[in-house]
Amino acid sequence: MEDKANILVIYTGGTIGMAYNKESGTLKPFDFEQVYRNIPALENLNCYIDVHSFDPLIDSSNVNPPFWVKLAQVITVNYEKYDGFVVLHGTDTMAYSASMLSFMLENLNKPVVFTGSQLPMGVTRTDGRDNFINAIEIASAKSDNTPVVPEVSIYFENKLFRGNRTNKFNSENFNAFLSGNFPPLAEVGVHIRYHHNYIIKPNFKRLKTHTRFDTNVAILKLFPGITESVVSSMLNIPGLKALILETYGSGNAPTDKWFIDVLEDAIKNKDIIIYNVTQCKGGSVEIGKYETSANLGKIGVIGGYDITTESAIAKTMFLLGQGFAKNEVERLLQVPLRGEMSV
Ligand code: ASP
Repeated sequence: MEDKANILVIYTGGTIGMAYNKESGTLKPFDFEQVYRNIPALENLNCYIDVHSFDPLIDSSNVNPPFWVKLAQVITVNYEKYDGFVVLHGTDTMAYSASMLSFMLENLNKPVVFTGSQLPMGVTRTDGRDNFINAIEIASAKSDNTPVVPEVSIYFENKLFRGNRTNKFNSENFNAFLSGNFPPLAEVGVHIRYHHNYIIKPNFKRLKTHTRFDTNVAILKLFPGITESVVSSMLNIPGLKALILETYGSGNAPTDKWFIDVLEDAIKNKDIIIYNVTQCKGGSVEIGKYETSANLGKIGVIGGYDITTESAIAKTMFLLGQGFAKNEVERLLQVPLRGEMSV
């Protein structure tokens, strides 16, 4: 039997701890500690639990860079004291936060498991109870006194995913997250089956927390009929440093001359990074595979392989915030830093 783990639950808000506000008829966050003290099953887990609640609690649509800094700081300050962290977070932007935290926490050697729910804890059919208990069990799991999943992950409805590989793809089903390009790190049934060969191995180096970002970024999703004025307006945003271009299929885009010219002008004359990611939920960008992407490569658009849009925007803000030169940011965008892409 491994030593009892010390787990810090960080409650940031989200549906899991919300209650109906009778006056407004809307869901609002409320005091989670009351709820979780009433889950007797937690007593049987091999861990001690402390709770840190954010003030104010937020719906995750209000997540922003100061929120990420606060979250990374709570983990950093408590890093030595605890064996693992469970972050209760709204599902709407959970994939963005998990991606960003994976970049902020360099040399992470302990589990940071994000979870939440589609129905509040107080509702009879809630999915919150199971998600919460399993997330705690996973954060507590050790083998030879080393955490089994020492990375940023998302636990939802029987599956543990690498955080920076996920998207929220369903707003109603309990099965709300998808990891289209990377297998689950663990699956939960009668047993918790860990897929050890997919889990990042600990490097036992000192945690290094990065808290600087640059938010001069934008996302442009292509659609048939997109006009020159839309593309050019975005690329003329004052101060813009990088554009995530959500292309079709394996990285394809229109071959219209105006389109290529506007992009080329932004890359060559405005020093803007253009990062090609696919609109598909599975598969990879391969610039040059089709004629419709060959020109993008020639003018200096860089490819994000199979990175998610959520991870791409987080990684871009993170790398720009480190103060690297443009070509170094471009280079790092094309190599995996935290297992966020397969090249
Ligand atoms: N709007 C909520 C949030 O993201 C939804 C949820 O928690 O599932 O905070």
